[in-house]
Amino acid sequence: MDVIIKGGTIVTASDQYVADIGVEGEQITRIGQSLRANGARVVDATGMYVIPGAIDAHTHLDMPFGGTVTSDDFETGQIAAACGGTTTHVDYCLQSVGGTLHEALATWRGKAQGKAVIDYGFHLAVTDLNANVMAELPAMVNEGITSFKCFMAYKGVFQIDDATLFQLLEQARELGALVNVHAENGDVVDLLTKRLISEGMTAPRYHAASRPLEVEAEATHRAVALAELARAPLNVVHMTCEASVRHVNEARARGLLDIHGETCPQYLLLNVDQYDEPDFQGAKYVMSPPLRDRKENAFLWRQLAAGNLETLMTDHCSFRMSDQKSLGKDNFAKIPNGIPGIETRVPIVFSEGVGKGRISLQTMVAAMSTNPARMYGMFPKKGCIAVGSDADIVLIDPKRRVVLSASTLHQHTDYCPYEGLEVEGYPVVTISRGEVIYENDQFVGSKGRGKYIKRGQYQAP
Ligand SMILES: [Zn+2]
Repeated sequence: MDVIIKGGTIVTASDQYVADIGVEGEQITRIGQSLRANGARVVDATGMYVIPGAIDAHTHLDMPFGGTVTSDDFETGQIAAACGGTTTHVDYCLQSVGGTLHEALATWRGKAQGKAVIDYGFHLAVTDLNANVMAELPAMVNEGITSFKCFMAYKGVFQIDDATLFQLLEQARELGALVNVHAENGDVVDLLTKRLISEGMTAPRYHAASRPLEVEAEATHRAVALAELARAPLNVVHMTCEASVRHVNEARARGLLDIHGETCPQYLLLNVDQYDEPDFQGAKYVMSPPLRDRKENAFLWRQLAAGNLETLMTDHCSFRMSDQKSLGKDNFAKIPNGIPGIETRVPIVFSEGVGKGRISLQTMVAAMSTNPARMYGMFPKKGCIAVGSDADIVLIDPKRRVVLSASTLHQHTDYCPYEGLEVEGYPVVTISRGEVIYENDQFVGSKGRGKYIKRGQYQAP
């Protein structure tokens, strides 16, 4: 064997036990008691939790938006991911209006080329569906793109109509793919935004007023209804509130087990009052959907614990305050939407979720690793600790205390939305396909080592 991870508590989506893990080459080849080193590198995991590397299947690296480009590219974003316990990444590749899916995929593969440090795949966001684009979908699935995305918001930019969403759902069903939706009623958001701006309400706080929870709930309901009509699987990303999650829950209660919901740490920890921070600091939290009332935080934790929200992703979409968020100084609608989080998810969810008794370790692993591996066609290569799986493994030291700060994180942006938050428990070693790429607070992997993952068909988690 090449590496032995010794004496740790292995945690999977269903189990927890103390054992050693043996790695040969890029895969796990043995799990057992008292494995002999015989020259292998020994990673001491005594007192640590040993989890399957986290999967971040909702990010926007090197993405053009609102006249600028997200501040993390594949190199900085994936280094930050690795330093925060994430070993697999699925980014949103965007079709440009009038462009082909092949062009979009080539562009996004180019962004990762030579930069990737962890394994990665792409979802394809379809923004302009016509007969030619429809004909490209089977080829995309053959390339390993087994999830698509529709934006029901961002009118005039990415927004699609209901007929497009419906046809994409039908096609995805035939191809064994999954459709992700950004569920907000973009037409109403557009109207409310124009109305607020014309009334002189331009501060960051009005971003939230322009996108009330009803517009999310309505779009969620519509997406679920269209998925039911198309008999297709659906995943509603970044869910923020009870009013919309209940539509997913009602569908599942009626036996529609391929309807899924995702949430993100920001909706679990932050709330609408953040927009009132003085001196334009509220712009840090301008994202869509926006932050909600505090009571939704507790609701979302309960839904995660119950397994109703099956995935917990970041929607990492980083912009600097200094020269990017500031584009909207006089108009909230011009503030680039998004928040950094690719590096802080695992420690935050471990500390605030597991540490505070809101969710179990197994739920944490399921929501951040095993469930996304299944839904996005990567299981059991990714998302589990088992013989034959890729040796993507993270050690969490449950006693390690860290105060989160932009000054020490690797995310390429000038603020951290959780600045000053002390977490208890932190990833201390990250192994990707058998190679230690993060230890002793340092990224020790190499640029360009990450491999493209040709993903398989959607599976229900
Ligand atoms: Zn997103």
